[in-house]
Amino acid sequence: MSEGPEVKRTADKLTAVLAGTKIVGIYSKTIDAKIQEKILGAEVRDIETFGKNIVISFSSGIFLRNHMMMWGKWRIYDRAAFDKGLANAPPRSIWRSKTALKNADRSSNGIGKTTDVREDSRVRLVLLTSNHAVVQFNGPVIQFSNNHPSSVAPLSLLGPDPLKGTFDNKAVLKRLEERNEQIVADLLLDQTFVAGVGNMYKSEILFQVGLCPFIKTSAISKEKKVRLINQIPRTLWYGYYNIGKTRPIGDKDAQISKWTNNHWVFRRTGHICWVCGKSKIQMDRKRTRRVTFWCPSCQNCS
Ligand SMILES: [Zn+2]
Repeated sequence: MSEGPEVKRTADKLTAVLAGTKIVGIYSKTIDAKIQEKILGAEVRDIETFGKNIVISFSSGIFLRNHMMMWGKWRIYDRAAFDKGLANAPPRSIWRSKTALKNADRSSNGIGKTTDVREDSRVRLVLLTSNHAVVQFNGPVIQFSNNHPSSVAPLSLLGPDPLKGTFDNKAVLKRLEERNEQIVADLLLDQTFVAGVGNMYKSEILFQVGLCPFIKTSAISKEKKVRLINQIPRTLWYGYYNIGKTRPIGDKDAQISKWTNNHWVFRRTGHICWVCGKSKIQMDRKRTRRVTFWCPSCQNCS
């Protein structure tokens, strides 16, 4: 799952090995030969995130925009291991549950099997430096351009990014007040409102401010609107620094169940709310564009 904080962490990892470094090899079945030529020998100037997008700038004036959607991923390998065929591609089962993995026939469908990354069919782009092989799997958006992608759609249409210093709470409050007829849970996912909030952070933010996910923004009090805007960057920064977790985990909690400890409501359907201790977390797939989790008591919402 690649929401703003996860994308930013990926960009940090790419920056650590690519920034200021010369590209000595590039491989892709899908990009134009002229673009490849321009990237070869160029240095990586900068890697920046725009909501859920990563933009890599090369010294030759080429830009790469990547959006990972739900299934794209980047991996960084030691160059020597990559050249020797010792770099393994991520398992295809990486998103499956442990139970599914246990029950699956690993030998017949390749689940759990690791392969030489150079032969993996999911590879869309390889950038080689002297020390590293940086590999993009699956895409799904890999777009090269001569102009910075932020000047054109879709990046030019993005709302303010809560993980940037330019995020202006008052300006975002004004944007919120201009969108009176939207369901608040759907508005948070609208990247033209704010950029980077995905489905998990959506439910967590609404829980943290005690807002019913299904109401229209016009029904939210001014005070709650201010709290909502303030909470968006707080929750995203917390997720960024805590590797996708949205709540602090006590020692006692850690003994119960790993996944359901990480969040207030997300994917906790049927579990007792951490805060009120009386309601069970609910899930709904119909009232909002994507699945939503909430506590009926804490969010005053049936
Ligand atoms: Zn509750």
